[in-house]
Amino acid sequence: DTSANGTVVRTPRLSPVAPEDDVTQFTEYRRLKATMRQMQLTGCPNPYFTVHDNTVGDTTMIDGKTYISFASYNYLGLSGHPEVSAAASDAIRKYGTSVSASRLVSGEKPIHGQLERKIAQWLGVDAAITMVGGHATNETTIGHIVGPEDLILHDSLSHNSIVQGALLSGAKRRPFPHNDYEALDRMLQALRHQYRRTLVVIEGVYSMDGDFADVPKFIEVKKRHRCMLMVDEAHSFGTMGKTGHGIAEHFGFDAREVDIWMGTLSKSASSCGGYIAGSQALVELLRYTAPGFVFSVGMPPSQVAAAIASLDVLEREPERVERLRHNSNLFLRLAQEAGLDTGDSGGTPVVPVITGNSLVALRLSNRLKKDAINVQPILYPAVDESAARLRFFITSEHSEEQIRFTVDRTQHHFHELCEMPVPRLAETG
Ligand code: PMP
Repeated sequence: DTSANGTVVRTPRLSPVAPEDDVTQFTEYRRLKATMRQMQLTGCPNPYFTVHDNTVGDTTMIDGKTYISFASYNYLGLSGHPEVSAAASDAIRKYGTSVSASRLVSGEKPIHGQLERKIAQWLGVDAAITMVGGHATNETTIGHIVGPEDLILHDSLSHNSIVQGALLSGAKRRPFPHNDYEALDRMLQALRHQYRRTLVVIEGVYSMDGDFADVPKFIEVKKRHRCMLMVDEAHSFGTMGKTGHGIAEHFGFDAREVDIWMGTLSKSASSCGGYIAGSQALVELLRYTAPGFVFSVGMPPSQVAAAIASLDVLEREPERVERLRHNSNLFLRLAQEAGLDTGDSGGTPVVPVITGNSLVALRLSNRLKKDAINVQPILYPAVDESAARLRFFITSEHSEEQIRFTVDRTQHHFHELCEMPVPRLAETG
């Protein structure tokens, strides 16, 4: 090539652009296929997308066979409760299967407001708003209330929906060490003044470990630094506190001390969707401006009615929460006595059994399947390889016999598997 003044210049050659229009050639797809091939080499059946052909409570039905179930969020046995199912059917008869519009325009039904008032009352705050998905609730709310001039500090074990919301917001995002309010305090000391708003996000119960934060300490820290505190109660709504009112009831503090409560309706409330609860102003702002609410359909009538009915039953039968706590404590105590590593779980319906190796976790869940026990393995990369585990979700409906049998079989198989040489799953391919 010759330039305008006659000197020869070399034009950089553009490397040929790979036509990225074939999904099978995407790096992400090839990585997925490699992981699946590795799993196949273990000889264990694929543990994902198992088909359950019933309402899952203490048991589940897979391929026509009944298993004791430790893999569902039906913590209080309310999914499948006749009153809850009847309320959902009645709502369909009255309002149809969809509200067919964003609530802002023409999808608003009386039961939407009824559910939101009930949630706010249940938690002890002024107002609440519901959205169609729990994941979407975190994503759109966090993504919307902070922006590029702001800071988000979240627990290092935060759920994916919190991280996705933080990414969407464009705010500076920093994780702090799990449950460590002192580390958070130090980070705020160093960073808070550089940003307009700061949002701190923690969870009521952590879904992988079954532990929980010292929330009153987090409230002290957030007040000291004048930032907003958001608590995701996906796993603590309905399960924590004497009567299931959540982590505020557990600790006995005024729920108004937390700026933003988030929860899902897919677990204890046996429905689907998520909520944000807090001040009137917060809810009003989201009702008119949160993209995932304004530009999305309202919760379907059946799911709104199911959540209302679940809370009605729970109000009448707080002993369900007591049963759940009894079962959770029993499972945890027996597992600890059996020498299993349950991490920091305590007093919550999530009990991990950490195997420290994905292949052991996979084989253990497969062996338990043969004993008619269904529990999901959590494998790398969902957790670090050294933190691979089985995750047991306890329900109020489990019997003592089911729990004793399960812990006994888990101990038996785990100890046998520990005596076998086990390669790391990543090394089997
Ligand atoms: N937050 C946490 C902590 C969760 O564990 C989950 C899902 N289990 C969600 C949010 C998303 O909830 P959903 O499954 O109802 O969309």
